[in-house]
Amino acid sequence: MTPDQAPPAAPPRSSSPVSRPRAPRATTPEPPAIDRIANVVVMLVPLGLVGLAAWQAWGGALHWQDLVVLALTYLLTGLGITVGFHRLFTHRSFKTSAPLRALFAVLGSAAVEGPVIEWVANHRKHHQFSDQPGDPHSPHVDHGNGWRGALAGLYHAHVGWIFSGDALADRERYAKDLLADPVVRFVDDTFLLWVLAGLAFPFALGLALTGTLVGGLTALLWGGAVRMFCLHHATFSINSLCHYFGRRRFPTDDESRNLSWLALPTLGEAWHNNHHAFPTSARHGLRWWQLDPSAWLISALGRVGLVWDVVRISPERELLKTRPRPLSPPSSP
Ligand SMILES: [Zn+2]
Ligand SMILES: [Zn+2]
Repeated sequence: MTPDQAPPAAPPRSSSPVSRPRAPRATTPEPPAIDRIANVVVMLVPLGLVGLAAWQAWGGALHWQDLVVLALTYLLTGLGITVGFHRLFTHRSFKTSAPLRALFAVLGSAAVEGPVIEWVANHRKHHQFSDQPGDPHSPHVDHGNGWRGALAGLYHAHVGWIFSGDALADRERYAKDLLADPVVRFVDDTFLLWVLAGLAFPFALGLALTGTLVGGLTALLWGGAVRMFCLHHATFSINSLCHYFGRRRFPTDDESRNLSWLALPTLGEAWHNNHHAFPTSARHGLRWWQLDPSAWLISALGRVGLVWDVVRISPERELLKTRPRPLSPPSSP
């Protein structure tokens, strides 16, 4: 399977918007009620706790240790999503060993954006139907016109699609390769364990850094709830803001955009128009000034031989893609 395209069962991706594949209804199974409840809890509890953290910080009870734990846990789980879930598992931008595959799957799971196989399946479906019916989180499909339609679309792309859960991808159809990978399958099956480990880690780190139970608890607040809240909304902004605001260097057949101010908080994922133009590229920031910390990590791992077969895009291929695509010839009557 070519990783940036649909799995074998799905219709081939077309270069023409006119003949883009339509999403078959059969591939959008309803999630169980327990999943919906879990999604609401995972979204709302951190939001409430961010309020508590802000109140704590305002009261002068914020310690430097809390910020260290926040930065470290944000980076670890964030890279688990960007380098692991996205560039490695979804798009196969590079190859690596089983232990590193396990590590990236674990770190991404601790971000609490769903189990790895579900995440990958939904994202592959997004690439197959980008901004067309069938895209799980497009801000442009079926949301009406004017500012109300724009707001409804942005809300749907940001979080609404998670709450409604009506466009989820079928794992068998979109992630057959990962279902056949015993390492990924194990981490996927034990998802809850990694979520809990992602909370135990900041608590233990806070405890070790401050030597007090209160220090452990405030580190859990910042490295658990605040980190989860910030990373969730950074990821969600790719789906909402990066399909709405920003520059389009490549005339892709979707609305993806590069949003430079969002590049660092998203660890390089906000070069989203570049990414839709070259989904398998390990670098999303294709130019030297397009900051892409996830690509820096992949390069560093490549230099010490821990990853290999890294997909790179030549300047010639980039140049070719900047040209508008010729319109497909009208079909004969
Ligand atoms: Zn996109
Ligand atoms: Zn992608």
